Amino acid sequence: MKKKEKRTELSEIGEFGLIDKIRKNVETFNKSTIKGIGDDAAVIAFPAPNDSLYKKSNKQSKEHGNLSPLSPRVTRGGQSRDKLLLFSTDMLVEGIHFDMAFTPLKHLGYKAVVVNISDIAAMNGIAQQITVSLALSNRYSLEAIEELYEGIRTACKNYNVDLVGGDTTSSVSGLIISVAIVGTVEKENISYRNTGKKNDLICVTGDLGGAYIGLQLLEREKQVFLDNQDMQPELEGKDYVVKRQLMPEARTDIIYELKDLNIVPTSMIDISDGLASELLHICNSSKVGAKIYKEKLPIEKSAYETAVEFKLDPTTCMLNGGEDYELLFTINTSDFGKIKNHPDITTIGHLTEKKSGVNLITKEGNMVEVKAQGWEHF
Ligand code: ADP
Ligand code: MG
Repeated sequence: MKKKEKRTELSEIGEFGLIDKIRKNVETFNKSTIKGIGDDAAVIAFPAPNDSLYKKSNKQSKEHGNLSPLSPRVTRGGQSRDKLLLFSTDMLVEGIHFDMAFTPLKHLGYKAVVVNISDIAAMNGIAQQITVSLALSNRYSLEAIEELYEGIRTACKNYNVDLVGGDTTSSVSGLIISVAIVGTVEKENISYRNTGKKNDLICVTGDLGGAYIGLQLLEREKQVFLDNQDMQPELEGKDYVVKRQLMPEARTDIIYELKDLNIVPTSMIDISDGLASELLHICNSSKVGAKIYKEKLPIEKSAYETAVEFKLDPTTCMLNGGEDYELLFTINTSDFGKIKNHPDITTIGHLTEKKSGVNLITKEGNMVEVKAQGWEHF
């Protein structure tokens, strides 16, 4: 009889536990791989320190006499050798990341590109090229896919990114859209997740919670419609949160501004899973703790009001909502003067020693441990 094999449910280890398992068993073989699994994008040296080129040219010199080996540091096509290549991918799955009942395909195409640009921004980089891969069920028509690509093209135009390829296949149920992206960053400007230092200030761009509150609203309206198809959606005065959910933007503008201000964040991540989860990623990988102040967390007025209307705690929406695609970064205290009056950057706390943990401080001075409650797909 076959011995019963051990079976671990993915729900036991969660998404991040799974990624960690994968990461631990992955070896890299190329000198050009500067950063593999574990940040918002992989970091690749280019022009690559090309071992195989070396080997080939060594062989050539044997075969053809006196040819000197090509230098691995040779600069090609006028590219500066001081830049690094960033490479990332993100996938959106029908029924998990989007609901066709309230997601226009144009918006979906736009969002699929933007969430990838946001990961490049999170490394302090600028996106340049994408590929788009689709798995489609026969529920989708040519007209539907044209609409999806209208959104993709609009995002490419807005962010100056080129669509350079992809893959198309069929799916038994629903739509899957997977985007891969490359970008660049100057070597001295790159921001990783694991380089935050004690006393650094924690900053966040824009406002938080809106995308999650928008999702709650869209789900409620869908339910109302399913219960009574004569009902029209009540979205008046809610355009901000709806837009935050359906058509987020990547904060490339802040990347340019930080450059102008001569600030290189000591660490950075984009907020896809919620402030709490992302702050824990920075703290765990930088081996530091953090204090953030509840009163400082930024929320937009209509998002706050809608949260209250839905009997949701606005702070929980900001901490755990996710999909805001704002940037969470840390800066050296000496840079505070440069951003303290910036209308779109809020300082929400500072990094501490690891042993103090990651905590939210309330107005009354109470300390609450920050826990990750990002999306659990499994
Ligand atoms: P983000 O939310 O910024 O897109 P993720 O949480 O999806 O980041 O991924 C964290 C890290 O794990 C990234 O470096 C990503 O490339 C890597 N990663 C995610 N899934 C896999 C996988 N299936 N195999 C290898 N690496 C993965
Ligand atoms: Mg990210």
